[in-house]
Amino acid sequence: MSAPQTPITQDVLTLPRKAAPEEKTNLVGLTRDQMRDALIAIGTPEKQAKMRVGQVWAWIYQRGVRDFAEMTNLAKGYRAQLDEHFAIRVPEIVRKEVSTDGTRKYLLRINGGHEVEAVYIPEESRGTLCISSQVGCTLTCSFCHTGTQRLVRNLTAGEIVGQIMVARDDLGEWPEPGRNPHDETRLLSNIVLMGMGEPLYNFDNVRDAMKIAMDGEGISLSRRRITLSTSGVVPMIARTAEEIGCLLAVSFHATTDEVRDNLVPINKRWNIEALLTELKEYPRLSNSERITFEYVMLKGVNDSDEDAHRLVELIRGIPAKINLIPFNPWPGSPYERSSNNRIRAFADIVYKAGYASPIRTPRGEDIMAACGQLKSDTERERKSKRQIETEARA
Ligand code: SAH
Ligand code: SF4
Repeated sequence: MSAPQTPITQDVLTLPRKAAPEEKTNLVGLTRDQMRDALIAIGTPEKQAKMRVGQVWAWIYQRGVRDFAEMTNLAKGYRAQLDEHFAIRVPEIVRKEVSTDGTRKYLLRINGGHEVEAVYIPEESRGTLCISSQVGCTLTCSFCHTGTQRLVRNLTAGEIVGQIMVARDDLGEWPEPGRNPHDETRLLSNIVLMGMGEPLYNFDNVRDAMKIAMDGEGISLSRRRITLSTSGVVPMIARTAEEIGCLLAVSFHATTDEVRDNLVPINKRWNIEALLTELKEYPRLSNSERITFEYVMLKGVNDSDEDAHRLVELIRGIPAKINLIPFNPWPGSPYERSSNNRIRAFADIVYKAGYASPIRTPRGEDIMAACGQLKSDTERERKSKRQIETEARA
């Protein structure tokens, strides 16, 4: 007997009757060149394309407009044409929490239903938005909540720059016509790439998004107001200097390879020496003053006087600031925060060796918005405490 024949029409019933409408191309996140190509593709005359990009760009990034109909310096027919082919999409705020200290944490939904977090931190002389570069993180630093999240995908450039746009929406900060976009009193004046993810594992999208953030006809933030934090993706550091040129922070966290292997596992690939060799070049390549060394204070793990002395020896010759971060616990975290006295003693040694050694005040602790606590709700608590402890020891 022959094998049962598969009916050739088997899928017909499960096929949707009508093809789903094609998602319109999102203009948010396109580089100027990409936007130019997109406008030409819908029939914009090549000669006009550059000017049209400038106009659309300013509406999107300077004014915060989300509807082509509002782009009043474009002909009505052209606005309709844009609307037919393109969208201006930013992440959707699923939930916003406001801390007693004014910190705002946004849970954002992006394409595909994934979620990331962004945190706005108001200070006296500036307002910093901490943004994410990936959903989760492929790295598994043992003290970091994001590192326990399994689901990982790179954010698109639009999703990265979109975080800045939704924060500005929420802060009500789209400048009135005629107001100076460089105004230093802006509520959102600084960006740190210190949210979820390793930015240098999503280099192209991070670069394109930061170029948009720095573009003088749009969001217009100076490159000195943008800080990218990396766990130490050595081969991408020079490109960061050359292609983005922002300030650099590095998650250093330990003074021996043995301890760093454990805390920041990427150290097994590029160790302390390799990292420092690359960092030495950064200030010159990026024409920036100094590098921020981030150092999370973990009780009994990396916080001794010897560690402090070793640290200043290691970084000798690199213009640097040491940012001491009191560990922020999360449910199931396998470490404790060093005592205030210990942190101060450590800071003192570093300071006496000639380096600024500010102790970062945790912000938004009551809403789990502090460094390393970010994790999307859908993923929260999926790994057990035991799993995390095992990984921390591995
Ligand atoms: N992936 C990048 C950027 C995101 S993490 C990086 O690792 O640099 C931003 C900073 O928060 C890093 O210095 C990170 O080491 C630190 N961090 C992570 N978890 C933390 C925690 N639980 N407490 C304090 N700082 C933490
Ligand atoms: Fe990833 Fe940074 Fe967290 Fe390490 S500290 S797991 S690199 S987000």
